[in-house]
Amino acid sequence: MSCFIELLRHHEHDFLHQYESQLNHPIRQAIKALLRCRTSEQHKMSWGCAHCHHQVQHPLSCGHRHCPQCQHQTTTQWLQRQEQKLLPCHYFMVTFTLPFELRVLARYQPKILYQTMFKVVSKVLKGFAARQFKAEIGFTMVLHTHNRRRDLHPHIHVIMPCGYYDAHNNQWHKGRQQYLFNEFALAKVWRAQMLEAINRHTRINLPAKYPKKWVVDCRKVGFGDKAYQYLSRYLYRGVLSDNDIVHYDENTVTFKYQESKTKQTVTRTLPVLKFLWLILQHVLPKGLQRVRDCGYLRGNASKLRQRIQILLINTKNWKKPKKKDKPKAIRICPCCQHPMHCEGVINFFSRPS
Ligand SMILES: [Zn+2]
Ligand SMILES: [Zn+2]
Ligand SMILES: [Zn+2]
Repeated sequence: MSCFIELLRHHEHDFLHQYESQLNHPIRQAIKALLRCRTSEQHKMSWGCAHCHHQVQHPLSCGHRHCPQCQHQTTTQWLQRQEQKLLPCHYFMVTFTLPFELRVLARYQPKILYQTMFKVVSKVLKGFAARQFKAEIGFTMVLHTHNRRRDLHPHIHVIMPCGYYDAHNNQWHKGRQQYLFNEFALAKVWRAQMLEAINRHTRINLPAKYPKKWVVDCRKVGFGDKAYQYLSRYLYRGVLSDNDIVHYDENTVTFKYQESKTKQTVTRTLPVLKFLWLILQHVLPKGLQRVRDCGYLRGNASKLRQRIQILLINTKNWKKPKKKDKPKAIRICPCCQHPMHCEGVINFFSRPS
């Protein structure tokens, strides 16, 4: 059982009482799902062994995207989908950060703010690419709402293969390995377009003061699959893994994190209820996609990607990724060690409301 869920279960009553005014609907839904995950309140999956006729039933997991018990599976599935899109080229990561003064918008209008951020990031990058390369680019955007200390700190990471597709001539152009875009120029446009988008929106307002300089970080992350897999794992994981919780008792929780400047592992200790809020404040609004693929990496561009992968087929030490079947869930019989088969979900109508 996840220790985060244990803590939540143990302190649920006090937490709901203390943070009542700050808990929006998605956070309440997440709490419900997490507390039900793999418990007798869930439907059960029945497994049978054809060899010795042994049968077992296991409660289903909740599948909620913020559940520490279900996170691993969604990460694996996402990574497998992304592997199909790999290209033999250098990758860059571009990070667009929102200044401190605007973070308050994430507290009260998260959906509008995050959607605006996605739109603007995509527009900025496509604009730069159109001016510099006059060809199509592809990129994956991932929204993070926290910094390493897990405070509210919304930013969007973009993973981008360094190469451009010219559809007119069916040609692939290898980008420069050391340089993608000028990050100061990106930051200027990011700021201007975000301010304009917020100003235009009727339901969010700019704070009275905000800085003149915003930050965009652009860095090279390496070549091909290794860089991409490392990055995807880092980007796609949940807010806090159970492994990072180093100590907890009745009153406090201590978790570890790596400080970005010094790269040292340090710890942060908080009272339990504050800790629960620190993590749960990052529950995203319902229906908001946290990861988006654009350009030649978008979901419905598989034909275009194949065309690009064929153009790159002769790249040294590279093989076009093969389509993998979705791995089947496997369970081994505890009595005879033969594989068991899944017989389906039971107790479907006895679920408590
Ligand atoms: Zn068996
Ligand atoms: Zn779960
Ligand atoms: Zn991040």
